[in-house]
Amino acid sequence: MAFPLRGPYLIGMPFPETRRRMIALAAAAVLSPAVLRRAFAAGEGEADVAIIGAGGAGIAAARTLVEAGKRVVVLEARGRPGGRAFTDSSLGIPFDAGAAFIHFAERNPWIGLAEHYGLELLHWNGWTHFRPHAGGRFLGQGYIDRRLRARKALWPLLEKIESGGPDTSLAQLAASLGEDGPTAIRDMAMLSIGENPERISARDYASLWDGSDKVVPAGYGTLVAMAAEGLPIRYGCPATAVHAEADHVEIATPLGVLKAGSVIVTVPVGVLADEVIRFTPGLPLETVHAIEGIGMGALTKVALRFDGERFGIAQGDDFVVVDFAGGAMTFEMWPFDRDIVIGTTGGDAGRALGDMGEAGAITAALEAFAEVVGEEAKRRFVSGRLSDWWHDPLSQGSYSVVRPGRAGARVALARPVAGRVWFCGEATAGGGAMTVGGASLEGRRVAKAIIAGTH
Ligand SMILES: Cc1cc2nc3c(=O)[nH]c(=O)nc-3n(C[C@H](O)[C@H](O)[C@H](O)COP(=O)(O)OP(=O)(O)OC[C@H]3O[C@@H](n4cnc5c(N)ncnc54)[C@H](O)[C@@H]3O)c2cc1C
Repeated sequence: MAFPLRGPYLIGMPFPETRRRMIALAAAAVLSPAVLRRAFAAGEGEADVAIIGAGGAGIAAARTLVEAGKRVVVLEARGRPGGRAFTDSSLGIPFDAGAAFIHFAERNPWIGLAEHYGLELLHWNGWTHFRPHAGGRFLGQGYIDRRLRARKALWPLLEKIESGGPDTSLAQLAASLGEDGPTAIRDMAMLSIGENPERISARDYASLWDGSDKVVPAGYGTLVAMAAEGLPIRYGCPATAVHAEADHVEIATPLGVLKAGSVIVTVPVGVLADEVIRFTPGLPLETVHAIEGIGMGALTKVALRFDGERFGIAQGDDFVVVDFAGGAMTFEMWPFDRDIVIGTTGGDAGRALGDMGEAGAITAALEAFAEVVGEEAKRRFVSGRLSDWWHDPLSQGSYSVVRPGRAGARVALARPVAGRVWFCGEATAGGGAMTVGGASLEGRRVAKAIIAGTH
C-alpha cells in the first residue's frame, strides 16, 4: 500500500503552512512598508475592479468585466485557478476533489462553456440509486422504501416553511417524520449539504434550486480552469486587507497594494469569518451579522485507486455504507470507467475523517470499502488521496450552510458595502448556493452591476 503522505496542505498545492502561520504572514504583509513598496509591477498597481479569489465567482466576474473593457486584476492565494472546483490528477487518474456535478443544468452557465470548449457532457443519475449497506450486508428494499418515504414526507413540511412558517432546523423537521425520519434526513443532509441537520436552516434548504445534473469526464475543475485561461490573475497573492476610501479601495497583498475603483470579494464565507482579511473601516453590522449567520459544511472525499480489479462491481453500481463513523459514506464506483472509487462523507463525519490526516482517512475509507467488497480490496489498492476542505485554510469548509433561523443571511451578505466592496460567491447565490453554477451567476451579476454603476 502506498500512502502519499503530506502535512497540512492547501488543496491542489502542497504547502507546509498551518493556518496560524498563514495569518501571521498575512499580518506581516500588511504591516511591512518595505513589502508594500515592492508593489505591483509598473501599471499593474491600479485597476477599475479588483477581484479577490479566482474560483467560479471570481472567474465569471473577471470574464464579464474584461469583455466590457474594464481593467481587472484578480488576486488568488493559491497557485492555480478554480478554488473549490479542482480536478486532481495526482493519482495518475483524474478525479474532482471538490465540485463534480453540474447541478441545475437547465440554467447552469457551465453547460454552455463545456460545449464551447468541446468537452463531453454526460447525464448523471442522481443520489437515489446508491444501494445501502450496513453490518456486513446490503439492506433490502424495505429499508430503501422506508428511507424514501421519510424523505418524501419532508417536502410538504419544507413547503410550509417556504410559504411563511418559522425557520427551524432540518433536524427539527425530521423529528416529526416517524422512526426513520431522523437518520434518513441526517444522512441526506450530511451527504448533500455536508452538514449535520441540526445546523441547517430549513427555509434556506427549501429555497435551493432543483434540476438535472450533468458531469464532464474531463473534470469540472478542468472546465473551470479552462475558463480562467488568459485572465489577469496574480497567483500566490493573498489579499490581507481591504481599505475603502470615498472614491477608491486599496487591497494589501504580500506583493504590494492594489488600488481599484471597486473590489469583489469572493473568498469563502469561512475565510471571511476567520478575519484573514482585515476590513477598514470595519464592516457594517448587517454584513458582520450575515457572516455569523452562515457556517461551512465539511463534505470530504477520499479517492481510492485500484490496480484494475473491479471486484465484480459494474461502473455506476454505487453504494452507501450507512454505518460509517457517525454518518454515512457513499462509494461512487469506477466513474467514467476509471480504476478509481470516490468515497464521500460530510458533516461531523467529514470533519472526523479530516482529523485523521490523509493516511488515517484513506485507511478508514478502505476498511469501509473492504467491508462491502471483501479483504481483496486491500491487496488490490494502489494509492489514495484525501480531499479535506474543512482543514484547508483557503476554504475552511466545503460550502456555505445557513444556520437555523438565519435564512436572510445570504441576501444581507450580498449587499454592497460603501458602494465599492462587493461580497459574492456561492454563499450569496440564493437558490444556486453551494454550487459552482450559483457562484458563477453571482460573479456575473455583480460584475454587471458594477459596469452599470448600479448599487
Ligand atoms: C467536496 C466538495 C464537493 C462539491 N460538489 C459540488 C458539485 O458537485 N457541484 C457544484 O456545483 N458544487 C459543488 N461543490 C461546491 C463548489 O465547489 C463551490 O460552491 C464553488 O466552487 C465555490 O466557488 P466560489 O468562487 O464561490 O469560491 P471558491 O471556489 O472557494 O473561490 C474562492 C477563491 O478565493 C481564494 N482565496 C481564499 N482566500 C484568499 C485570500 N485571502 N486572497 C486571495 N484569494 C483567496 C481561494 O483560494 C479560492 O480560489 C463542492 C464543494 C466541495 C468542497
